Amino acid sequence: MLLHNTATGRKDVFLPQDPRRVTMYVCGPTVYSYAHIGNARPAVVFDVLARVLRRRYAGVAYARNITDIDDKINAAAAAEGVDIGVITSRYAAAYHEDLAALGVLAPDFEPRVTAHIPQIVSMIERLILQGHAYVAEAHVLFDVGSYPGYGELSRRDTRELVAGARVEVAPYKKDPGDFVLWKPSGAGLPGWESPWGRGRPGWHIECSAMAEALLGDTIDIHGGGHDLIFPHHENERAQSTCAHGGKTFARFWLHNGFLTMQSEKMSKSLGNVLLVREILKHAPGEAVRLALLTGHYRQPLDWNDEAVADARRKLDRLYGALRDAGAHAGAASATDAPEAFVAALEDDLNTPAALAELFELARALNKSSDPDEKSGLAAKMRSAGALLGVLQQSPQDWFAQTSGSDSDAPGKAEIEALIAQRAEAKKARNFAEADRIRNALKDRGVLIEDSAQGTRWRMAD
Ligand code: AMP
Ligand code: ZN
Repeated sequence: MLLHNTATGRKDVFLPQDPRRVTMYVCGPTVYSYAHIGNARPAVVFDVLARVLRRRYAGVAYARNITDIDDKINAAAAAEGVDIGVITSRYAAAYHEDLAALGVLAPDFEPRVTAHIPQIVSMIERLILQGHAYVAEAHVLFDVGSYPGYGELSRRDTRELVAGARVEVAPYKKDPGDFVLWKPSGAGLPGWESPWGRGRPGWHIECSAMAEALLGDTIDIHGGGHDLIFPHHENERAQSTCAHGGKTFARFWLHNGFLTMQSEKMSKSLGNVLLVREILKHAPGEAVRLALLTGHYRQPLDWNDEAVADARRKLDRLYGALRDAGAHAGAASATDAPEAFVAALEDDLNTPAALAELFELARALNKSSDPDEKSGLAAKMRSAGALLGVLQQSPQDWFAQTSGSDSDAPGKAEIEALIAQRAEAKKARNFAEADRIRNALKDRGVLIEDSAQGTRWRMAD
């Protein structure tokens, strides 16, 4: 398997440290507002990578965090006059709903920063002890001068980095490039007791501390959007490498390109965002997912109505071939995806090439008149689809869906994804989350019923 590694600047052969536990950490959302379609891109891309890794290796430990302490969250809470927990649970729940609709499977771990304050404090203490961090005016700062490897990931020299990132120049910093590990919280701001007084963590330290707690000192793959290379990932790398006596932090760094609109990066600060939930009112989640996978993950992807319409037509063709073959759902498990399809995905997640292979299969299926050959091809298409996270419903359901209407009623795929998430929450004994999903479905007119045979659902009258 080949993966493009930002650290080396080329495609490298990927071999995990331990094939029984391939470790992957992806930076997740800061939950202070609804996710836009740009935020969904890394979630979908790394979901495909997790599926490809799970197919090849015996075990995968995938962590995608939720940033639930941040100054933007504090500002949103203050604006509504509520506790930050009200803001973060609302938008974390919305994020889960959006991703479920896009067929994104739950990661193995979804750590929250507020649940890892002791681990964060412990890592900062170690960095101070080892001379990589210092206390100044109730802040703790990372001393970039103490780590000669600083700047290697983003491959720029420190001076250039500092100028480019408009870092905050503060009188208590030894070097303008030093970044905050811990900062004081005044009255009215969320904070935790620490050896440096009541305060809260800076942004970068959370990922280093949570990756260490869940996945160990050296992880196989670290992912996120291209915008995170500097300063976030450069800083994570500095913190973890220094806290672990020079051990490599991440063996592979993967970064997805930006989603753009009219060639401009989609971002909240530019104000050109399209929310996932708005898009889902007019298009099936599966088509939105496929549209996100039509281009290669490292390239920029320009988003427009035609991109979704095109993905929808593609799915019409693929499901059309399955329908004509009389394919039944569930046939996938017995057959593996075709070699060329898997090879494309294992070549740095080449989804355009993989899709071309999928269309080859559909073409062969349409041509064939031999029933055995047809069902074999259909099973291969389903297995290939399962790696991309598409083609898992019955053709009848795909063609019957009513999306395109502005109703708030969720589609079948979304309902089933949410029910699966609820089952997982119950399995993890997270009954609060299970109830939340049940209630969220009920609010949207879907009633669920548990029985010995599993969970059934129906639309409320
Ligand atoms: P944020 O909540 O802003 O930290 O973003 C969460 C994730 O979405 C990060 O991995 C970002 O790199 C990624 N991201 C944000 N905007 C875009 C975009 N326009 N295109 C692709 N990825 C993005
Ligand atoms: Zn991170």
